[in-house]
Amino acid sequence: MVITIDGPAGAGKSTVARAVADRLGYMYVDTGLMYRELTAVAMERGVDPGDGDALAALVGEAPAGPVDLRSEAVSARVSAVSRHPQVRQRMRARQRERALVRDAVLEGRDTGSRVCPDAEVKVYLTASLEARAARRAVDLGLATDEVGRTIAARDRGDAEQLAPAPDAHVIDTSGLTVAEAVDAVVRLVEAAA
Ligand code: C5P
Repeated sequence: MVITIDGPAGAGKSTVARAVADRLGYMYVDTGLMYRELTAVAMERGVDPGDGDALAALVGEAPAGPVDLRSEAVSARVSAVSRHPQVRQRMRARQRERALVRDAVLEGRDTGSRVCPDAEVKVYLTASLEARAARRAVDLGLATDEVGRTIAARDRGDAEQLAPAPDAHVIDTSGLTVAEAVDAVVRLVEAAA
């Protein structure tokens, strides 16, 4: 079975997707991390984030040196790198291949609509900007309003990439604990099995 979990930055996708994969014994595929890797490789090699063809040729390569893929430097550039159609086409093919190997939970922005439109369970995880900023601020040890501005900027940068599947189950995690959000997804999976 394939489960897809899409949504905006800070909605809790990674935490929930990883926990669901653990609970069910499924493989976890973090598609955002793949775009972050590409961004880090492009930064290392000095490739222009506007050069879609050059970026597409780098898909699948790993950064040569140690790099924090979740750093602000990578987060600030990843939307610009991931918006090129030729990049997305190659990424989606790789993501699809990984999902075909075994039962998987895919997490990202377009996994239910474009990567695996035939997925058995599709979830769109969202939360208010305030809730998303407050959570990230705790994780990063930064002020909520500062993090809120960064998230709002990424929402704008990702507007095109964020493609909820029309048949996705929408779960708003603003007032939910992680355990409650995980339970909600697992219930959908059980209902689909
Ligand atoms: O989920 P995460 O915040 O790690 O994703 C990093 C970035 O990768 C997103 O802001 C978005 O620009 C891009 N992305 C994407 N399509 C996906 C997953 C992530 O364009 N399926």
